Amino acid sequence: MMTVTPIPALRDNYIWAMQAGGQAVVVDPGVAAPVTGWLQDEGLQLAAILITHHHGDHIGGMPELKQRYQVPVVGPAGSHIRGIDRSVADGDRIVPAPGFPEFEVFEVPGHTLDHIAYYAPGLLFCGDTLFSAGCGRLFEGDAGQLHQSLSKFAALPGETRVYPAHEYTVANLKFARSVLPQDEKIEKALANALKIRENVKPTLPSSVAKEREINVFLRTEDPAVRAAAEARTGRELKTGVAVLAELRHWKDEF
Ligand SMILES: [Zn+2]
Repeated sequence: MMTVTPIPALRDNYIWAMQAGGQAVVVDPGVAAPVTGWLQDEGLQLAAILITHHHGDHIGGMPELKQRYQVPVVGPAGSHIRGIDRSVADGDRIVPAPGFPEFEVFEVPGHTLDHIAYYAPGLLFCGDTLFSAGCGRLFEGDAGQLHQSLSKFAALPGETRVYPAHEYTVANLKFARSVLPQDEKIEKALANALKIRENVKPTLPSSVAKEREINVFLRTEDPAVRAAAEARTGRELKTGVAVLAELRHWKDEF
């Protein structure tokens, strides 16, 4: 049976580690030391590395791990990351190592232009595109691209577990509460996340079903979300993309 473990790294990153048999596959190793430490503690061999996008807190530990364990690195075709052995694009299917599931690659531009996600039935590694109750900042792409990327995630089966790369849940839910102060599900999710973080435990993974409920960035067609975004900007927002653009702008200033 395969398990997925968060390896906390840097300030608030999680390096997600899949484990099957005596082998492990890690996603976005921003630093090497916590990964080597975990592998040693668990008595595991690293089998492959998956990369979602080019930011340093996602690739910083990759060269050292690759050299030390001599493992293949899978990453986005649309980027210039050094050390990628297998470049993948939208619709490609990869099995990171024997005994691990087959993942489908989604190109999900917005946060960066090279951003990809890895999906296998039941699990989604979404990097910095989707967070619990939030989404990544628009560093390179535009709101239209991000809207399309998030819509792709929202259409996945509800039971799909969602593994974002940062622990931003509490801050995101505080923002969501200010967008929708009357929303009981957001209020409840915030109380729950605060309790989990008091014990310094991860609030992740989330699920697609949960995100459809508590993530305002996935609810851009919801009249209540639209009304809140319109009230903030003082003009009519006719499309989901326009609502998303306003929400992202609002969150950047929150
Ligand atoms: Zn990033």
